[in-house]
Amino acid sequence: MSVEPRSNFLRTQIQADLESARVSALVTRFPPEPNGYLHLGHAKSISVNFGLAEQFGGHCHLRFDDTNPEKESQEFIDSIQEDVRWLGYQWQGEVRYASAYFNQLYEWAMYLIDQRLAYVCDLSAEEARDYRGTLTEPGRNSPFRERSVDESRDLFARMRQGEFAEGARVLRAKIDMGAANMNLRDPILYRIRHASHHQTGTEWPIYPTYDFAHGQEDAIEGITHSICTLEFEDHRPLYEWFVEHLPVPHTPRQIEFARLNTSYTITSKRKLKQLVDEEVVIGWDDPRLPTIAGLRRRGYPAAAIRHFCEEVGTSRSDSTADVAMLESAVRDHLNQSAPRRMCVMKPLRVTLTNLPDTLLLDVRNHPADLDFGSRQLSMGAELFIDQDDFREEANKHFKRLVLGKRVRLRGGLVIEADRCDKDAEGEVTQVFARCVTSVPGADPEDGLKPKGVIHWVSADEAVPATIRRYDRLFGVPEPAREQDLMAAVNPHSLIVIDTAMIEPGLVNATPEAGVSV
Ligand code: ATP
Ligand code: MG
Repeated sequence: MSVEPRSNFLRTQIQADLESARVSALVTRFPPEPNGYLHLGHAKSISVNFGLAEQFGGHCHLRFDDTNPEKESQEFIDSIQEDVRWLGYQWQGEVRYASAYFNQLYEWAMYLIDQRLAYVCDLSAEEARDYRGTLTEPGRNSPFRERSVDESRDLFARMRQGEFAEGARVLRAKIDMGAANMNLRDPILYRIRHASHHQTGTEWPIYPTYDFAHGQEDAIEGITHSICTLEFEDHRPLYEWFVEHLPVPHTPRQIEFARLNTSYTITSKRKLKQLVDEEVVIGWDDPRLPTIAGLRRRGYPAAAIRHFCEEVGTSRSDSTADVAMLESAVRDHLNQSAPRRMCVMKPLRVTLTNLPDTLLLDVRNHPADLDFGSRQLSMGAELFIDQDDFREEANKHFKRLVLGKRVRLRGGLVIEADRCDKDAEGEVTQVFARCVTSVPGADPEDGLKPKGVIHWVSADEAVPATIRRYDRLFGVPEPAREQDLMAAVNPHSLIVIDTAMIEPGLVNATPEAGVSV
């Protein structure tokens, strides 16, 4: 099942850029920061960037934006690569790292100092905040702004040598402290951080800011279209300033689109981390989390996630997609792609009083698609059905097994219930029934056809299993707006059923390999 790419403003823009030969081949990138697991929002960004490259015969890079070493780790780097691949995409060439460009970025910072477009500033963080002004008031020039080129060069080189303490000084661009756009008020380019980095070790005691690194990384890699989310719109003038004032090899074009928000879902890494750290869920790959790893464990097909990302569309206005759209895409995909197996959650023993021999049944693996083939199940005199599938009495809306009535066992015979045993509390403990057909799939000869079909397992061959039934993690449609996120957690989001009995063939089933047919 695939969805046709629909027209959207990104596709229109790229098409126009290719037709006008402004660019000769599309190059996009997905630039995650390796400080958490990817989530559904990232899946949207991945499907946009890799999807566009696929559609227009271009390339997409995977680049780790690793300028913040304290929060990053190899665990996240590994999981992100696995998730992108699992979603069905492959990046062009090797995985890339912002940290691989640290030397180039350092040289460009020196270049800006030489051009009198950057200076080392010794204001403390608090003073700098004060000098920065507000949305309604312009900022004031730092007293260090007119420092000589030589002095800034010397101080910056010594920052790089690790001579100064964290927070002692920063390198800033010299743009305009009166700019209405706060991002242009002499933004920070480099900070001192005596932190070890997962890629560069202890080589660098200074790190570029995201703003100084990001656009230049795109320029180095020849990214033609830097697609990002709307919160970076206000940063675009700054990125353009850098590209204009630095000898970069290439000019990327930034286009913003609205983030994907989904109802009943949290897609903030900080909040997801809180759920993991406070053990509300079992880990980053808990099936209730909207992380790609969680969705994968929950059994969501990658194709269904891609389908959802396409179906919600790509626009420049913020909106929230209904999570039911995702759930419905998952059901549609699984309905077509999943081989069927039987399991009973709360077993109720059924004894077939007139079955002379165990029957070997050939049961179809898919109700509609014969290509899934069939499997053999044996049906003896002792079976389990689900407790909920039996009632002593019921009206005609209950289409399952009722005393004195008939039901079809999926893939097997038609049976009629004669009597049942009960325990001291009045709970039914066993049902005695008769087979009223002898050929699997056939209708009773007396013409009294059963209305319903129920599932079952053989009491002799079924295997006990623990079933985890997952529901939405939050009981409210907009959990991100809750004051107390923890109070919004659905207490029934995980129900563990340890009484289940499953078909023997399910024992070695895995989400990756499925079941052996
Ligand atoms: P968070 O807001 O959870 O910290 P982030 O956006 O900072 O996430 P990054 O690792 O920087 O996380 O994201 C990598 C890419 O994914 C960025 O280009 C970002 O714009 C995009 N992205 C993140 N969340 C969403 C979302 N909800 N919808 C679309 N794109 C997203
Ligand atoms: Mg980010």
